[in-house]
Amino acid sequence: MTISFEGQVAIVTGAGNGLGRAYALELARRGAKVVVNDIGGTRDGTGQSDAALSVVEEIRAAGGEAVPDGGDVSDFAQMEAMAARAKEQWGAVHILINNAGILRDRTFAKMDPADFELVVRVHLIGSAFATKAVWETMREQGYGRVLMTTSASGLGGNFGQANYGAAKAGVLGLARTLRMEGAKHDIRVNCIAPTAGTRMTADIFPDEAYKAFEPEAVVPAALFLVSKDAPSDAIVAAGGGVFQSAFITMNEGV
Ligand code: ADP
Repeated sequence: MTISFEGQVAIVTGAGNGLGRAYALELARRGAKVVVNDIGGTRDGTGQSDAALSVVEEIRAAGGEAVPDGGDVSDFAQMEAMAARAKEQWGAVHILINNAGILRDRTFAKMDPADFELVVRVHLIGSAFATKAVWETMREQGYGRVLMTTSASGLGGNFGQANYGAAKAGVLGLARTLRMEGAKHDIRVNCIAPTAGTRMTADIFPDEAYKAFEPEAVVPAALFLVSKDAPSDAIVAAGGGVFQSAFITMNEGV
């Protein structure tokens, strides 16, 4: 099946790197107009960031359409500005992929409370804020596809990730309620758990294990989950899994 996103407008958060960048490039290659959001690098005060701009340039060089956005997902006003950017530019928002994230891994005993709060803010509150910013538009359109990023850490817990696991379990609860509230407007909300193949996991996995995984292991599943034919209430784990053992190894003594 070849999925086309011709005529659709997509927002991808945390798209300056890694998996988010791969989502943005592939959506654009298949015809979507893409808002590339990322907080990374210098922000110019007018809503752009270095990380977002570099991916926008890649998309444009390949003949696609994209605009950069430097908004922080954990700041609702900045998410509203991001949604407004998409609407001003292209008049609609069909797809939102909540991908922005950070890690502050420590065993709970050693975890700084501020790092607990920060990780929950970016992953959980950020996913809620970005989605809230496009929700009314999707309701009015009678069409929306939202993809949330959860994790095996959220489903089953993991050493050193009390903050991240809590946030990702929360993302799941958020998605499950939103898919109910969105259903009558044909807004479908799904979750993906990219077990590996991401930059984030590259920092975690032992090199040899990581090398077995690439974004290509995750991107096709994500694209299906934001397509017209998307299911509702799916949790798709993509990318394979040497997960638990790698984490335990890494977190010994952390
Ligand atoms: P992955 O490969 O899992 O996408 P990355 O670390 O490559 O992992 O991507 C996460 C992206 O999210 C980074 O580019 C980072 O700059 C971005 N990011 C982190 N925090 C925020 C935030 N508050 N708002 C927007 N983007 C963010």
